[in-house]
Amino acid sequence: MKILKKASPILKKSIFAALFVLICVIIACSDSSTNTTTTNQTLPAVFNKFTSAVTISVSGDYVVLNTKDRPNHKSAYFPTSDSMYEPYNDTGFHRAPGNIVAQNITFKIPISPTAASNHTATSGGPIGISLNGVPFYNQYNGQGQPLTSEIASFDQWKGHPQMQGQYHYHAEPTYLTYTNSDSTILGFLLDGFPVYGPVENGVTVTNADLDVYHGHTTRTADYPNGIYHYHVTAQDPYINGSGYYGTPGTVTQ
Ligand SMILES: [Zn+2]
Ligand SMILES: [Zn+2]
Repeated sequence: MKILKKASPILKKSIFAALFVLICVIIACSDSSTNTTTTNQTLPAVFNKFTSAVTISVSGDYVVLNTKDRPNHKSAYFPTSDSMYEPYNDTGFHRAPGNIVAQNITFKIPISPTAASNHTATSGGPIGISLNGVPFYNQYNGQGQPLTSEIASFDQWKGHPQMQGQYHYHAEPTYLTYTNSDSTILGFLLDGFPVYGPVENGVTVTNADLDVYHGHTTRTADYPNGIYHYHVTAQDPYINGSGYYGTPGTVTQ
């Protein structure tokens, strides 16, 4: 009996502790259930144009795109043992050191992009994703300077890897414009606005046709009601000008 009397306050404490934990769990559960009621927006059909190299899902108001960043075209930057290796002997080509290395990059971009009131500058590294999963980079090199000698290191499809082997395009992804067309959609920047090829309605687009962010608003084949979009052009800044037109999403790698 002595033992039981001694034990019962401990038992009471345990019951109270268990109740407390149970209440916390109920509160936490009801909390998370309200969070998960956020409905995902429908994925626009244009996202079906990405190759199977890109895994796509929707999270609320964002499209989530994951890529291993392995280009679907040959390159002098694949290891020579890789079936996609192809030498490139063009005059003026200076192969940068290093090979293409598989990556794991996740882009989260707005599904319904809107113009930002304050335009954010692009930074080094991925600023967008092309239809074959290769990231777009801005018009600057790793030191934040305009591209000069780096251009000579672009391979046969105008891409090259950075120091960690991350393959990317600073300019027109010529494999995509060659295999699709030079007026086709090529991908998206981080703000969710699409990037188109260098030709529109049969006319070559120049920087003079575009605003400071390197885009404009017209109807396109994929957006018959019209949308703001970037164009790649032959002249610097090539893809994006003075920052994002919309509010950029995120990149994790
Ligand atoms: Zn580069
Ligand atoms: Zn256009």
